[in-house]
Parts: sequence; structure tokens; C-alpha cells
Amino acid sequence: MEPTGNAGTAADALRKQHVIDPEICIRCNTCEETCPVDSVTHDDNNYVVDADKCNFCLDCISPCPTGAIDNWRVVNAAYSLDDQFGWSELPAQPEVRAGAPDEAADDEAGRLIAEAHRGAGGRSIAPASAAEPRINLYNRQRPAIATVTGTFRLTAPDADNDVRHVILDFGDTAFPVLEGQSIGIVAPGADGSGAPHRVRLYSVASPRDGEKPNANNLALTVKREPNGVCSNYICDLKKGDRVQVTGPFGATFLMPNDPSANILMICTGTGSAPFRAFTERRRRVMRDAPGRMMLFFGARRPEELPYFGPLQKVPEGLLRKHFAYSRVPGQPKVYVQDLMRQKADEVGILLRHPQTHVYLCGLRGMENGVDDALAAIYGNGGAEWAALRAHMRADGRYHLETY
Ligand code: NAP
Repeated sequence: MEPTGNAGTAADALRKQHVIDPEICIRCNTCEETCPVDSVTHDDNNYVVDADKCNFCLDCISPCPTGAIDNWRVVNAAYSLDDQFGWSELPAQPEVRAGAPDEAADDEAGRLIAEAHRGAGGRSIAPASAAEPRINLYNRQRPAIATVTGTFRLTAPDADNDVRHVILDFGDTAFPVLEGQSIGIVAPGADGSGAPHRVRLYSVASPRDGEKPNANNLALTVKREPNGVCSNYICDLKKGDRVQVTGPFGATFLMPNDPSANILMICTGTGSAPFRAFTERRRRVMRDAPGRMMLFFGARRPEELPYFGPLQKVPEGLLRKHFAYSRVPGQPKVYVQDLMRQKADEVGILLRHPQTHVYLCGLRGMENGVDDALAAIYGNGGAEWAALRAHMRADGRYHLETY
């Protein structure tokens, strides 16, 4: 490992270093699993990148659900693993020297830094017609303050899961979001070691213009997790409570604005949050859109399915709905991928349409099963589907957000 630090000496060559933003990272291990050269590692605190191993292949960029992985610094001497394990936030871009004290060297340093700030992003692409998202407007040091104006239980009183719909109002504070983006919530207090709790990310469940048109608010869909610090904090919030919010985050898992785009949405549990936003957006401003929307939604039972009641009221003409239940007594376990195979004709028509966008959101475990189902539906064997999937990805029409 090279000497730690970042400014180094004037003689050190400039290098671009891949780093992970600890404020946004949700420690899902995707990057470590994906990295083909084992450059990503972690301790109890952070996921970090070994600068001596990273070969800039960018394989980790698109699978990262939050974009925490898409961060870069231009340094004279790389940050060591120990430096990165100790971070609670990314260090600012340091002052660097390009070796020779002349204008060309300064230009080269400027070019590298600008490139680093843009991020690699490119592997995951937003739909061509999506609106331009605003990101990272607020952080832990400068959070937006929202007031809780509503909190409702979405699952039946006797359901195993307590899933809540929580409405946050931003008052006079500008907090622009698009359907598909996430926000961070800062739970107050500190963990056992005295460090502030990590920021947790939640998808926005309301359309860009608010729960009701022209309201400066947004909704979240949050499941109470046993021992979950932030999920319990959010699920226990009361009307009038004030909450620290960071973000918005996410520049690719966005809704196409094109009304002729077909949108195939596949989710489990609270992964339905962004699809509520998509559906409400279409219903509000593109009610007669020629593009079709189809939803495959998996839950244990109807009583556990977030938005079960409201979804019944969404007309089939606007949203074709398919519910997969895994734990209804006396009935076989059905997952979304099983239901997609049962509805292969409908799904196949959408897959073959050049204006179809596919979105997957929810449990990581469903990824392979859904992929297998799409391969079976699209053609004999996986090669044809793999080619289409690559094409759709490159076209900004294939999007994953799984945890
Ligand atoms: P859940 O209630 O645990 O599960 C929902 C359904 O998925 C159940 O029917 C479950 O069946 C089924 N399932 C389990 N394994 C599966 C597999 N391999 N393939 C297909 N279906 C499978 O779901 P949840 O706890 O709400 O989880 C939703 C996920 O979405 C979480 O990972 C969450 O982090 C993520 N997410 C949340 C948000 C948000 O804003 N809150 C946003 C994006 C993503 P069983 O009966 O077998 O358990």
C-alpha cells in the first residue's frame, strides 16, 4: 500500500481513486460481490475500495442501488483502506499538484477532477425521456427539515408486517424529487459506539408534485424491521414531528416521461414504493397515455400487500395488476416470477415492444428468478433475452433496485 493521505508530494503522479460514499452506502454487499478483482472490502463500519487492486472496470457501478459506489477523488497519494474504514463522510476533493508547476499541469489536474466529479454513471442509464433529476441537495451536515403530516398503517392490523405510509412536508424548503428517486432519513441519536446513526435510504412513493397536486411533500413506504433503528424511528413518527432528510438520490431509476412508453413493473413488499409514484404520475398527468403499465406485485397475503385497497381502485386500463401471494393458507406459494410465466403472453408482447421499460424493485432474492422467467418468456434459452436485456440497459430501458 502506498503512503496514506491525499496531497502527497509534488513529485507524486496524479491518480484517480475510486471511493465509496459512506453516507449513502447501505452496506448491501453488492459491490463486493460484483468486483471481479476483489478490490472492494468492508469492516463493521464501511465498504471501501483498495486503490492498488481497482482496475476501473466499472462493473460495480450499475448494480449499486444507491450510487454510493460512483464516487472518485483525484489524489497524489491514495487513501489507504484504514483511512476509508474511518470515514463517516467522503473527504472533499483535496488540493492536488500535477507534478510540474505550469498551466498545462494545472489544466490536467482540473480535467481529472471534473471527470471524477461527473462520476462513471454511464453503465446505468436513465430513460431518454426522463426529466433531469436533482441530486445531493442536502446532506447530513446540511439536512432538509421536514414535518410529518400523516402516517398510516398499510397492512392489516393482524398482518405480520407493519408497513407504513408516511407523509413528509417540506414547507418552504425546496426539495425537488422525481418518481423513482430516494431520500435519506437521519435517525436521531448514536449507536453503541457513540457514532451517529447511518443515513437510511427510502424510495419516494409519491409523484413529483406531491401527495396531492402542487403540495411540497412526499410519501415513503416503510416496513418496521425487528431491531431496525431507522425503520422503527420512522414507523413511530407522529404528526408534527420534525425529521432530518438528505438527498434526493438516484439519477437512473427514473420514469420515462414519454406517454407512449410501456412500463413493466415487478416488485415485492415495500419495493412497490416507486411504482406507486409511477402509477400516480401517469394517473395524474397522462391518464389517456397510449403506453401500457403492468405490475407484478408479490406479498405474503393480500393483508400484507402495501396499498392493496387503493390499488383495487386503479382502473385496469391504466394499470394491469397481477398479485402473487406466497403464504395464503391452503394455497401454493406463488412468487412474482411464477405469475409472470403464467402471464407469458401479456409479458411477451410488452418485451417485444421497442418502447417497453422494465423495472425491478424489492428483494434481491427475486432477481435471478425474474431473470429466468423473462428468458423463458422471451425465447428459447437465455441468449436471446440476455441480448435484449443488454440492449434495453444501453437504451435506459432496464432498471434494477434490489436490496
Ligand atoms: P417481504 O414482505 O419479505 O416479501 C415480499 C414477498 O416476496 C413475499 O411474498 C416473499 O415470499 C417474496 N419473496 C421472498 N423471496 C423471494 C424470491 N426469491 N423471489 C420472489 N419473491 C420472493 O418483502 P419486504 O420486506 O417488504 O422487502 C421488500 C424489499 O424491498 C426489501 O429488501 C427492501 O429493502 C426493498 N426496498 C424497499 C424500498 C422502500 O422504499 N421501502 C425501496 C426499494 C426497495 P416468502 O413468503 O417466501 O417470504
